[in-house]
Amino acid sequence: MKNIAILGSTGSIGTQTLDVISQHKDKFKVTSLSCGRNIKLLEKQIREFMPNFVSVYSEVEAKELADMTRDLDIKIFHGMDGLLEVARDSESDMLVTGIVGMLGIRPTLEAIRSGKDIALANKETLVCAGSIVMEEAKRNEVSIIPVDSEHSAIFQSLQGEEQNRINKILLTASGGPFRGYTRDKLEKVTLEDVLKNPNWDMGNKVTIDSAGLINKGLEVMEAGWLFGVGRDRIEVVVHPESILHSAVEFDDGAVIGQLGAPDMRIPIQYALFYPKRPKLMAKKLNLFDVGIMTFERPDIDTFKGLALAYEAMDKGGNVPTVFNAANECAVKLLLDRKISFLQIPELIKSAMDDVKIIERPTLEDILSTEQYAKEHVLKDVEKA
Ligand code: MN
Repeated sequence: MKNIAILGSTGSIGTQTLDVISQHKDKFKVTSLSCGRNIKLLEKQIREFMPNFVSVYSEVEAKELADMTRDLDIKIFHGMDGLLEVARDSESDMLVTGIVGMLGIRPTLEAIRSGKDIALANKETLVCAGSIVMEEAKRNEVSIIPVDSEHSAIFQSLQGEEQNRINKILLTASGGPFRGYTRDKLEKVTLEDVLKNPNWDMGNKVTIDSAGLINKGLEVMEAGWLFGVGRDRIEVVVHPESILHSAVEFDDGAVIGQLGAPDMRIPIQYALFYPKRPKLMAKKLNLFDVGIMTFERPDIDTFKGLALAYEAMDKGGNVPTVFNAANECAVKLLLDRKISFLQIPELIKSAMDDVKIIERPTLEDILSTEQYAKEHVLKDVEKA
């Protein structure tokens, strides 16, 4: 039995993780769960998986959920303290970090320091606090297993290759719904257009990030930390069919990649069972249906977010945090219909240009940089 705790159990990663677990109930026990405000779904999950405790967004949701579950013996926490409780859950072996944003940094670090292996789906944590997280993971001898489909593909491609150097990582991108668009055309897209991803079923934040290639920028930085590779050896390849989920080129020129149907349950199950591959009830890849796979260069002149991510990675220190936090704030503003899609990279750039660079940021520096970036974005939007 492996005991699993999940942050973000009602989101896209969380629900698919529980789907995988429900296919292997004899192998896993769910010991704790956290969600934000979707307590109706959380109640269903509690009744099905019987965790020892859960955490929700605030006291309001905690009280409501307590009413709904009066017949059960379940402890309910809330807020950041609740996330930290789930992270350090004394019964869990592994934490699945399915929450979105920098909110994931403190719980991820808490879990690492408590000796939990991490199934990492919260890329913002590595983007902002990569040096701290990787160092702590090493010190506490815990594994960080990527859940992000591209990083899982790279991780799978590296099995048995410990003695070999990575020459190049080929990080694939679907290109999102606006692939091939000019800037003029991008100016007119609506929030509804942004929220349609052709291949992957994801939460709103990741879907918006994907549409502007900002998600890919975050993933370049995530790959850099996970696999210890500099940005000059991480190449983004637009691959609209989303069949090759990423690949590694070795020094001899061999390219090893992972292919499959675009189904997040495959990388999720791989992280849960690593290194085993038991049967999974999911759609299998049919190459005859796929027929043709195509590859193209990303258009970084139109999709400036990706170029800014490379710039943030070059500058290092707290600059990736500015990139990420300004983006998080801008995405919220887009969802509130306060800004247009093309303003997102502009707001990120403005915050990056003005920041005082801290070369080796502590966790406190990272959190204060987050504050700086969010305030900078809000000020810019007010001015306009
Ligand atoms: Mn991804």
